[in-house]
Amino acid sequence: MDFELTEEQQLAVDSWRGVLERDIRPIINQYLDGAIPKEVTHQLLRLGAQYGMCCAEVGEADGGLGLDMLTSGLISEELSRVSPDLAGTGFLTQGVALKLARGGSPELKARYLSGLLSGELIGSSAVSEPDMGSHVRGLKTRAVRDGDNYRISGEKMWTSNITVADLALVLARTDEDEFTIFLLDREDHGYESREIDKLGLAGWSMGQLVLDDLVVPAANAVGGIGGGLRLTMNGFERSRCFVSTLALGIAQAALDDSIAYARERASFGKPIGSHQLIQGLIAEMATELDAARLLVYRGLKLLNREEPSPIETSMCKYFATEAATRITSKAIQVHGAFGISKEFPVERHFRNARMLTIPDGTTQINQLIIGRNLLGLSAFD
Ligand SMILES: Cc1cc2nc3c(=O)[nH]c(=O)nc-3n(C[C@H](O)[C@H](O)[C@H](O)COP(=O)(O)OP(=O)(O)OC[C@H]3O[C@@H](n4cnc5c(N)ncnc54)[C@H](O)[C@@H]3O)c2cc1C
Repeated sequence: MDFELTEEQQLAVDSWRGVLERDIRPIINQYLDGAIPKEVTHQLLRLGAQYGMCCAEVGEADGGLGLDMLTSGLISEELSRVSPDLAGTGFLTQGVALKLARGGSPELKARYLSGLLSGELIGSSAVSEPDMGSHVRGLKTRAVRDGDNYRISGEKMWTSNITVADLALVLARTDEDEFTIFLLDREDHGYESREIDKLGLAGWSMGQLVLDDLVVPAANAVGGIGGGLRLTMNGFERSRCFVSTLALGIAQAALDDSIAYARERASFGKPIGSHQLIQGLIAEMATELDAARLLVYRGLKLLNREEPSPIETSMCKYFATEAATRITSKAIQVHGAFGISKEFPVERHFRNARMLTIPDGTTQINQLIIGRNLLGLSAFD
């Protein structure tokens, strides 16, 4: 597989890097370890949308840029170096747009798609529940038919973007026992959500959504009644690759910070970077990051083929997120006690990376997917 960037891809990355340093970093640096206000998020998404954030992958017929997955992944990776929180908000919002483009009625598309692509609307996707995360088929949220509507009751947990989201795609089980995704509009349906305080990625909203007999038109089903599980499962290969691009960006920032620190900090009369064991740490970090990057880029390129690539996308998610945890931990080691201090960024990189081995299939679930496909035997049954 050829990983050399085309002229177009290189241009997209270079111009995006310029915008990130000039326009986005100065704003986002005010919210490095806390909530990003909704209006600031919209401001940055609108800016990013001009460079492909939220709209790169959606086809031109639906108002997107119709770019390839690797270009979209590079945009996300570069953004994650500066703000993994914003990169998370962006890739999820685009994920909602993709589901809508694939499975939404013409009316739903006309009403919501352009807002999601331009940063005017923030999307979220609620699957996990307090009693169910890995085992999606075990969900309890119910949708009961009532004329032209459904009445939805249940609780969703760990939903990214939820407290700032304008729209939520909610996976529920209908009374005909069919998994269906319903689009909820905060203004129309007034759902309640609350933020959950967590280890890292403090600027990427994550919360709980409580649905108490919420009335939603049957016409808000995305992917049709009964089409929700397929649409959800199809989306996982993409989201595994994009969570991995977040891991790459965080790990790259930790490596950059460590190299700069190792050149400056002195011990025993010379820069710590000239001690062989520090060079060993830097070499391990850089090598693991490159290995992760190659797996992620392969996953992204395979997504373009629109054929299932469960082994490769699970490999990239499992390896890249675990590698980012190891790399950011080593970055703390290079920094000594300053590494655990809040005055330096590496403890934040570590906490941010540690979040990523859990969503979109934990490390263990992704290992089981790889095992099932290689062995032809399922550990899930
Ligand atoms: C940063 C982040 C963002 C998220 N965003 C969203 C979102 O936007 N929408 C959403 O719906 N959810 C989201 N989630 C939730 C996420 O999808 C779940 O946390 C994840 O699927 C795991 O579910 P769980 O937490 O209930 O753990 P469980 O499923 O209870 O698993 C607990 C432990 O048991 C292991 N385990 C479970 N089953 C098996 C098995 N068969 N074999 C071996 N080990 C097993 C797991 O690997 C894990 O170590 C997010 C989570 C995080 C951390």
